[in-house]
Parts: sequence; structure tokens; C-alpha cells
Amino acid sequence: MAGKIVIDTERCKGCGLCVVVCPKNCIVISNHSNKNGYFPAQVTNSDCTGCAMCAIICPDVAIEVFYESKVEAAKSNKKGKPNLIKEKA
Ligand code: SF4
Ligand code: SF4
Repeated sequence: MAGKIVIDTERCKGCGLCVVVCPKNCIVISNHSNKNGYFPAQVTNSDCTGCAMCAIICPDVAIEVFYESKVEAAKSNKKGKPNLIKEKA
């Protein structure tokens, strides 16, 4: 299953929980601080499966997860590109 996350870097407090929990090592802590002075999480690779572990553990609700369902995958295979839909938490 293909997935994608979007991190709200201004909401993130850089606790690193999402970095630790991600089984695909998709997330790192940025070297650049946000407007609140925190070093936020950022996506580092495209191996995301859409498992949503990062979003579930985030205490600041800073992560949105999108994933490609089997139905959408079948559709996208015909069209040749992924069609990611938002996770229903
Ligand atoms: S959804 Fe899963 S695989 Fe994707 S970044 Fe979050 S924890 Fe990692
Ligand atoms: S768990 Fe949430 S607050 Fe903590 S680093 Fe990740 S996105 Fe930021």
C-alpha cells in the first residue's frame, strides 16, 4: 500500500515520537526551526506505507496521512499514477 504524510511544521514541537515509531524511517527532525523555535519533523523518503503510526502517536496532531486503497490502486494502475485518499482516523 502506498502512502504519504503531510506534516504541519508550525504545529510540530519536534518531540521525535513520529521519527521513532515509523517502521520505514520516513521521518527525521529538521535542522531549521519553525516560528515557535522548535525543530520540526520532516519527511525524508518516499517509502511510506500509510500505516498512520506517526499520526496516531503525535501528541500535537501535526500529521495527516494519505494512503492508496486497493480499490484506488486498481484505478491508478489503469491511469498510471497513484490516487491517494485521506486517512479516516
Ligand atoms: S504513515 Fe507509517 S510509514 Fe508513513 S511516515 Fe507515518 S509511520 Fe511512517
Ligand atoms: S510526533 Fe508530532 S510533534 Fe512530535 S516530532 Fe512528530 S510531528 Fe512533531
